[in-house]
Amino acid sequence: MSTLETPLKRELGDRTATALSKAFGMETVGDLLRHYPRRYVVRGELSNISELAEGEEATVLAEIAAVHLRRATGRTILEVVVTDGSAKLWLTFFNQPWREKELRVGRTGMFAGKVGLFNGKRQLSHPDYQLIPDGDDVDEAISGFAGKFLPVYPSASKFPSWKISQCVEIVLDGLEDIPDLLPAEIVKVLGYLSFVESIREIHQPTSLENSALARQRLTFDEALLLQLLLAQRRAQYRSMPAIARRVKPDGLVARFESLLPFTLTKGQQEVAAEIESDMARTHPMHRLLQGEVGSGKTVVALRAALTVVDSGGQAALLAPTEVLAQQHFKTITKLLGPLAEAGTLGGDVDGTQVVLLTGSMTAASRRDAYAKIASGDAGIVIGTHALLTEGLDFHDLGLVIVDEQHRFGVEQRDALRTKAKVPPHVLVMTATPIPRTVAMTIFGDLEISTLHELPAGRTPIATHVIPVLEKPHYLDRAWERIREEVAKGHQAYIVAPRISATESEPEGMTDIDRAIAKLLDGDKEEKTPLTSVEELAPKLTLRALKGLRVAPLHGRQSAELKDATMQAFAEGKIDVLVATTVIEVGVDIPNASMMVIMDGDRFGVSQLHQLRGRVGRGGVPGLCLLVSAAAEDSSAMARLSAVASTLDGFELSRIDLDQRSEGDVLGKAQSGVRSHLRLLKVLRDEPLIEKARLVGTKLIEADPNLAALPELAAAVKELAADEASTFVDKG
Ligand code: ADP
Ligand code: MG
Repeated sequence: MSTLETPLKRELGDRTATALSKAFGMETVGDLLRHYPRRYVVRGELSNISELAEGEEATVLAEIAAVHLRRATGRTILEVVVTDGSAKLWLTFFNQPWREKELRVGRTGMFAGKVGLFNGKRQLSHPDYQLIPDGDDVDEAISGFAGKFLPVYPSASKFPSWKISQCVEIVLDGLEDIPDLLPAEIVKVLGYLSFVESIREIHQPTSLENSALARQRLTFDEALLLQLLLAQRRAQYRSMPAIARRVKPDGLVARFESLLPFTLTKGQQEVAAEIESDMARTHPMHRLLQGEVGSGKTVVALRAALTVVDSGGQAALLAPTEVLAQQHFKTITKLLGPLAEAGTLGGDVDGTQVVLLTGSMTAASRRDAYAKIASGDAGIVIGTHALLTEGLDFHDLGLVIVDEQHRFGVEQRDALRTKAKVPPHVLVMTATPIPRTVAMTIFGDLEISTLHELPAGRTPIATHVIPVLEKPHYLDRAWERIREEVAKGHQAYIVAPRISATESEPEGMTDIDRAIAKLLDGDKEEKTPLTSVEELAPKLTLRALKGLRVAPLHGRQSAELKDATMQAFAEGKIDVLVATTVIEVGVDIPNASMMVIMDGDRFGVSQLHQLRGRVGRGGVPGLCLLVSAAAEDSSAMARLSAVASTLDGFELSRIDLDQRSEGDVLGKAQSGVRSHLRLLKVLRDEPLIEKARLVGTKLIEADPNLAALPELAAAVKELAADEASTFVDKG
């Protein structure tokens, strides 16, 4: 009898096991059994090709009549014609030339998919199929399959689906009654099948209902392991020592609050109280503060920093870019006023010093900053990656604030954390709202605070789409609107996806952006070139915006130039900034009231939302225009309309995530064969993740080390060692 750990060689023989290892990297029985079918072909529901209607989900039994491989620029199209005697059906596969080897003329198989019509021909695009092994009698072969439902597996050229199901059958026959990771009572309460039943049902269902139930159970297991891991991490943080940092009566926090030109919103007060009570404990805080752009996170973070300074410690604020670090420095010194000028004439005796540390500083000012950080004179240190440099020593680092989390990896946060002698409190801020379950998964080891409301006095931003193909004259109107805003004393941003015309891709593109762009672009080879800052700025200066003060801003300019431009814009010496997404995060110019985003379809939904958050910050109504040459009925246009229709960042991030494959959300975690997260889909499985979070938290509370459930404890450990831990660690 075998277990999940039994080598496949023992069960299937050397040759087959080696082939499985080569094709999929499988080594053990467990590896094979975790290779789940994508769907099932239902015998007895075979259709006649001549009766297939467009849009129908169908399975046909047919013989391959012709195969044709075409090569187009950069891709291959495999066309296969099959027939069942009643009619012909066309199958197409893009970029899978290897299928030509197994889809040979004369072979018979079952083909399943959604029927499409193309040039009057019925076709299946990328169908699932199950070929009848060569030489087998068809009737016998079909009735010879284990059940009524034939599993269709993700296959490889050397290993078609039917061969996988044969191997699975052998392995299942010899499988021991493996004990459940979960106590039987819990399985029962949740209404699931046992683990072994689930494994059998997902591969060889006795009914489709049972296979669905099995899939749920196995998905739940994945979600539970993940949530147990996260719950254990939270518990570990809670057991680490930290220095309690308390608000001092009449200290800096109190002085700061009395100096603030506004009162904190109710949401800010609540979050401030949460942070205050976290930091008053002798265990480190690990909290995520999420809130819309402009919801006032910085003020809350500053209050936390002052709490630490009050108690004799230091706070470090890590910003993703130089522009943002500079801006934080200015905002914070301004908000603190005399409180930030300790040690200078006119400074407050109880105050502290705020120090900026970036890569572009001169050696002399860096030395000065280092000295103040080491002596503790600098209570608040703001900087970029320069903060992570070895050799930079803090006197007593008590709080690490990470702004715009998405741009930092876990290593960087840890690098800063290790600069403290005792584990510091950690506050992570993000303006990219993410749905609760995604937060629970990606940032699951953090406690989460959310600012839902914007400070009063904010006027909502009106957003409109300009479809330049259909309505080119709308664009002229857009430039006119900018002139009107400037005439009223306001300022405007124009955002373009590229720096220069020769650039091959938009600035700041990540792999995910690239994948999405590729996905959305599809076949379109010839595209109208994207708008670039270097072309657009002079063009506007000469024509549509003649007489206005227009300046370009992008990532390839020197730090000094960028800073000077931002400074001039902040002081109202520039009317219109033509920029790339360098202005995306955090830039705060209350006088800017309008934004035009060129080639808006080139940006992600959440990114557009971030961008437009730059306007409407100063009590004047904000206007955002999304310009796009996409077709009116395209998915790109639909995304833009979605952005125009709501200001709810959570809603938009959901749309954004919906468009990305799960692999992008969970990173590498789902890729490898060893992955323990095969079935889990963060958005689809929300209720399941909630349930798993509840069960997981309770289990860890009752039994922190899962001593009573050693198998489960071992599985969690395995997950932690897995690649997956690199992403759940984010935060
Ligand atoms: P975030 O970091 O969340 O994008 P900020 O903290 O930068 O937001 O705040 C945006 C702007 O709103 C800043 O100019 C800030 O001074 C102002 N602000 C913050 N809190 C309040 C409040 N309670 N009332 C009025 N204005 C506020
Ligand atoms: Mg901010």
